[in-house]
Amino acid sequence: MKKYILPLAILAVFLSVAVVLWLTKDNLFYLFNFGYIGVSISLGLFLFIGKYKYARRVTQLLVGCYMLVYLGIICNENMQIEGFWYYLFTGVFEAATIHYAVAKIFGPLIFGRGWCGYACWTAMVLDFLPYKQPRKPRKKLGWIRYITFFLSLAFVAALFFAHVGNLDRIMFWAFIIGNVLYYAVGIVLAVCMKDNRAFCKYVCPVTVFLKPMSYFSLLRIKCDKTKCVSCGKCKQVCPMDVDVTDNSLKRANGTECILCMECVKNCPKKAL
Ligand code: SF4
Ligand code: SF4
Ligand code: SF4
Repeated sequence: MKKYILPLAILAVFLSVAVVLWLTKDNLFYLFNFGYIGVSISLGLFLFIGKYKYARRVTQLLVGCYMLVYLGIICNENMQIEGFWYYLFTGVFEAATIHYAVAKIFGPLIFGRGWCGYACWTAMVLDFLPYKQPRKPRKKLGWIRYITFFLSLAFVAALFFAHVGNLDRIMFWAFIIGNVLYYAVGIVLAVCMKDNRAFCKYVCPVTVFLKPMSYFSLLRIKCDKTKCVSCGKCKQVCPMDVDVTDNSLKRANGTECILCMECVKNCPKKAL
């Protein structure tokens, strides 16, 4: 029963958020939304515990498709970072702001970059590419994320302060075009750098929020030094180049861990 504590705890957290938002905002959508996401994540964790090979992918596809197709395309909610800025400027604490607060700003204090491993619809597609383990050493290109971050902010600020009309429609098309761009750049980078997650490592603006918050994440992969034989397998299979054998907060690329569990699955000594 002990092994089911984590999925049950995550389900409880999401259901609590669902109920609180449903009651405080008097909107049944929040109950459905956070309930669905909590069930999808817990299902993936249950499948992982049951040693199903594609457990993470099941959650990633369930949540990613829901956000991209249902919330983004059908409900016209811009769930990308531009949508977050837009709602901030309009002073509305709704879909994209709540999504960012829960998944990408405060949530990472508890579950780190779990969003990136189990829910992101960009990575959902990138993870189908063949370069699951980076074939080359990491490059010092992380500064690009700050440029994309400020470009996204400047884009929405310019629309807002110029009093451009029909902003809702513009934000919908910004969501569609933004996603097409993310996929195009992500796929080209993955193929050129032979690394599925190159976009996540160097370009994604959301990591400007995710990285500092996940530094303090409660949920972390830890290494039992008494079992570890320093074989290096964990670092070899890690898609994000994390030095998972170092238990300190400052471990190399520690804020990049997407909790994908590849290191845990592949450790021959069960040290993780
Ligand atoms: S880094 Fe960005 S693109 Fe990659 S999984 Fe996280 S949010 Fe998605
Ligand atoms: S795979 Fe396991 S045994 Fe090998 S270095 Fe990593 S933690 Fe240690
Ligand atoms: S392989 Fe391990 S250290 Fe690397 S991202 Fe996945 S869970 Fe984190």
